[in-house]
Amino acid sequence: MGGMSEPLRAVDVIVAKSRGETHDRATLERFLHGYVGGEVPDYQVAAWLMAVVWRGMSPQETADLTEVMADSGERLDLSAFPYAVDKHSTGGVGDKTTLVLAPLLASLGAQVAKMSGRGLGHTGGTIDKLEAIPGFRAELDHEAFLRQVGEVGVAVTGQSRDLTPADGLLYALRDATGTIASLPLIASSIMSKKLAGGARTIVLDVKVGRGAFMRTLPEARALAEAMVAVGRHAGRTVRAVLSNMDEPLGTAVGHALEVREAVAALRGGGPPDLRELVVVLAGEALTGAGLPADRAAIESALDDGRAMGRFVRWVAAQGGDPGRLDDLEVAPDVADWNAEADGFLDFLDAERVGRAVGLLGGGRRHKGDTLDLGVGAVVRAKVGDAVRAGDRLVTLHHRNGAGLDEALAALAGSAIIVDRRESRPLILDVVR
Ligand code: URA
Repeated sequence: MGGMSEPLRAVDVIVAKSRGETHDRATLERFLHGYVGGEVPDYQVAAWLMAVVWRGMSPQETADLTEVMADSGERLDLSAFPYAVDKHSTGGVGDKTTLVLAPLLASLGAQVAKMSGRGLGHTGGTIDKLEAIPGFRAELDHEAFLRQVGEVGVAVTGQSRDLTPADGLLYALRDATGTIASLPLIASSIMSKKLAGGARTIVLDVKVGRGAFMRTLPEARALAEAMVAVGRHAGRTVRAVLSNMDEPLGTAVGHALEVREAVAALRGGGPPDLRELVVVLAGEALTGAGLPADRAAIESALDDGRAMGRFVRWVAAQGGDPGRLDDLEVAPDVADWNAEADGFLDFLDAERVGRAVGLLGGGRRHKGDTLDLGVGAVVRAKVGDAVRAGDRLVTLHHRNGAGLDEALAALAGSAIIVDRRESRPLILDVVR
C-alpha cells in the first residue's frame, strides 16, 4: 500500500485482503473514511467485505477496524459517571433482560447508559418492547439521555445516527451482500457501537442455540473472545456471558407480554431462567464496574422493590405511564398449540416461536412496518418439564385470526418430547 500522501487505491486494499494480508490501522482509516465520505463506492466495499469473510482478520486488525468505525461519528462522554455500564445482547427470543437488568443495576449504584435496537429477523428489539408502555419515548437526544443517566441512573434510547455511521452503512451493505456471517465483522459492528456509547464497563449476553445468531458453543465462544479482546485493546472492561437460546427465555414472547413478564421479575417473581440470567449479568456488570456484587444483595434488590422502584422512575422519565404497567394491551384472542405425546419436553425451537409471533403481526416484513405490540406467545412448558399429550405447549395471542394459520404452521414440529428428562444449563460460560 502506498504512503499516506498518495491517494488511496481501494482496489489495492481489496487485493491485499483477498490475498490474506493484514491491513494496518492507517489503511483501514483511509478506506472507511473514503466509504463514509462517498469516495469509495459500495461495490468496492462489498468486494472487500467478501474478502474479509473468506480471509478473516487478526485480533489487532479487528480492534483497529472497531476503533475506526467508532471514530466515524460522535462518541458519548460518560466520564462524569464513575460506574457507567452498558449491556448488549446478540439477540434472542423472549429476551426482555434489559428491562429488568438496567433498573436493577441502577438501584445498586451503577449508571446504565444504553442504546438499543429494534427487532431483527425473528428476534425482538428492546426499543420496540419499551414502546408497548403507553407514552414511552424511546428516542432521546444526547443531552436528555445524559441528563437522565445522571438523575435516574438509567436511560435507554434508540441507536443514534450520529454514532458509528460507518456501521450503519456497512451493516446495510453486509445485509444485501451475504457478508453478515463473519466473526471480525460482527465483533467490530457490535463493539464499535459500545465504544462510541462511552461506558467503561460493558457486559455482553452472547446467545447460543436455535434462536440465536451463533448456533454452537464454539462459535459463540469465539465471538465472545473477539469482543472481549477488542474491549481490552480499547481499555474497557468487557465480560461476556454465554447463555442458552435453544428455547425462548422466560415464558413470554411479544412486546406487551414481555414487558408484563419483566415487571413480574422486577417484583421478585417471574420465570426462574429470566431471573437467573439477570442476576448473573448483574454480578458481572457490578464487579466489572468495581461495585459490590454479592448475589444475595442483587437478589434482595429484586425482592424488596428497589429495582421495581427504579423501573417506575425510568419509565416516567421517558414519558411512559407507570400506572398502566398492570393493564398493558394484549391481543384478546387466544389459540393453543398442544403436545402430541406424553413425556418430557426436550426442545422447543426458539426461532420458530419468534417467527410465529412475527407472523401474528409482532415482526416487520419490511423496514418501517408498524408492529402489533399486543400479539405474542406464552410458553406453557419449559425444557425438562413433564407434559402429556393434549397439554398446552404454547398459547398464541392473536388479533381476529390474523396470521394465525401461518403461525401455527411455523410451530408445527418445533417441540421434541422424549422419555427421559434432560436438563440443559442456561449459563454456558463466562468470558472475561
Ligand atoms: N448485531 C450487530 O450490531 N452487528 C452485527 O454485525 C451482528 C449483530
